[in-house]
Amino acid sequence: MYNNGGGGRRGCGLSGAKLIIALIMAAVAVISYMSRTEKNPVTGEKQRVAMTVEQEIALGLQAAPEMAQQFGGLDPDQATQQLVDKVGNQIVASSVPTDNPFKKHFQFHVLEDSQTINAFALPGGQIFITRALLSKLETEGQLAGVLGHEIGHVLARHSAEQAAKQQLTQGLTGAAVIATYDPSNPASRNSAQVAQMIGALINMKYGRADELESDKLGVGFVAKAGYDPRSLVGVMKILAAAGGRGGPEFFSTHPNPENRVEKIGEAIELAFPRGVPPGLKK
Ligand SMILES: [Zn+2]
Repeated sequence: MYNNGGGGRRGCGLSGAKLIIALIMAAVAVISYMSRTEKNPVTGEKQRVAMTVEQEIALGLQAAPEMAQQFGGLDPDQATQQLVDKVGNQIVASSVPTDNPFKKHFQFHVLEDSQTINAFALPGGQIFITRALLSKLETEGQLAGVLGHEIGHVLARHSAEQAAKQQLTQGLTGAAVIATYDPSNPASRNSAQVAQMIGALINMKYGRADELESDKLGVGFVAKAGYDPRSLVGVMKILAAAGGRGGPEFFSTHPNPENRVEKIGEAIELAFPRGVPPGLKK
């Protein structure tokens, strides 16, 4: 991104060169400040993140109504919402360490959209599942599998990582917006820029590595919550069957479910070398 015009274009005077160097140094300072490297306590990996935990939680809360709007609003069926809350909260209670800053901020939302088979996580703990995907699931364990995967994205801070990458490729706009965003004082923000950030968050796609990491985390979370982790394999089969050309949007944000089945199997074997314990809920 730092095009110094090398390889042909010369004639930059000394003061011009100094200015460019100063600008580059300022840019590097802002970027390295904004994309701090932190060790993630859940994945154990060092990651570059572009937001503080508080900023993630606040942005997710702000983006949630817009996300709901894009998928026909929230589903009015309270019984379904309660089931999703029950399973989601059970996973959070049993799998998220007490001192994890996201623990208290998870919220689960059923979207009324009956066409789009999908589930999403916004940063900070806002999790969504469409009625269309819910209607395909056969067991509570499969619901746990979907929610466990999305909880994995939040705890692994994939949005903050993605935002750090995008700042590096798109320049300082994102960094500047985030730098001025004070989550405890939403009035301090430039609302047009935050709206842009929210738009970017809603359309953000995770990479394949992120998806596989969330599958792996999901396996552990689901089992800890008392569900059979093999139900995640069931979810992938349902998604594959529902797929096909121009199929559900799930495939634009999630890699091919058939390849994931194999990886999920490996994660289960790794977590339970002596086999999955009996008595877990399907
Ligand atoms: Zn995912």
